[in-house]
Amino acid sequence: MIKRDDWRLMGQEEYLMGKRLLHMYWNQPSPTWDHDHCEFCGEKLCRVTDLGYCTNERQYWICELCFDDFKAIFQWETIETPEFPGVSSAEFPLQKPPALIQDSLYQCLVKRELEWRGRLERQSDIKLFDNMRSEINRLGYEYKLRIDFMQQYITIPDVLEVIVKYLREFTDPEITADLVSAIGTQGNQLATEGIIDVYNKSSLAIREMYAVLFDNAIVRLGDKRYIDAYLKWLSDFQNATLLPSTMQMLAWWKIPEAKQWFLKYLNIAGEDEITFISIKALSYYNDEQARGKIASMQNCKSKKISEFSKSVLKKIK
Ligand SMILES: [Zn+2]
Repeated sequence: MIKRDDWRLMGQEEYLMGKRLLHMYWNQPSPTWDHDHCEFCGEKLCRVTDLGYCTNERQYWICELCFDDFKAIFQWETIETPEFPGVSSAEFPLQKPPALIQDSLYQCLVKRELEWRGRLERQSDIKLFDNMRSEINRLGYEYKLRIDFMQQYITIPDVLEVIVKYLREFTDPEITADLVSAIGTQGNQLATEGIIDVYNKSSLAIREMYAVLFDNAIVRLGDKRYIDAYLKWLSDFQNATLLPSTMQMLAWWKIPEAKQWFLKYLNIAGEDEITFISIKALSYYNDEQARGKIASMQNCKSKKISEFSKSVLKKIK
């Protein structure tokens, strides 16, 4: 039972009482909008496989845990939208951030860009960027600043072609990350190929730093033609751990080869993260074998894993 003096209660009843909430996977409304926070506990939602509840106009998010804790008090009405991200064709009402926020974000990113332009060690990347921009301008598209590429997802084929060509050349991980977040929407082959290539040739340090961006982009693109590339990542559990959403996507597609890996990863002692990913992935297969394996994890010595298995089983049964 939640007490009225729970630390997470901070007057939310004024704007969240009795609201209608969408139960959905978090997704990125634009390349520059890369996370939201739970209105109660502040937990960050930043992966396309983060499940939560949001208000209709998407202004407020509530994490699953806080939803369960406060649903009795707040009397929410919920709408289930169970589709997996990147596979879903359903459109959710997305609201652009208020103009004021957009403006100040833009100004902030312009400032960051000017600083970037002043950095000596980045001169070769800046030159590359300027060449890329002129090539795109010559095609008749107006882009001036780096931030201009981040206003919306880029899907124009000839612009994409130029960007993907340059994406492979940049050495500055910051601009690579920007472009990875900005290119392509579902099923875009060119963008998918470019992103896979760039991830594969990046150092482990860069992969670790920007894993969420790559992971979200791969799922946003959701291109089934590259299952072999995703399976290759899965076969190396370091990559599988860095790209959990991509792994969930394989499971959502019920790829048999992926299932074998998830079964294998359940019992790697001391590697909890891959165990969590595998339990969640197996729940998407939701066949007898998968349910049996998840059930057996309830006896796991780690309390966190055993609790997690319990809650996953409860959801799929
Ligand atoms: Zn929360």
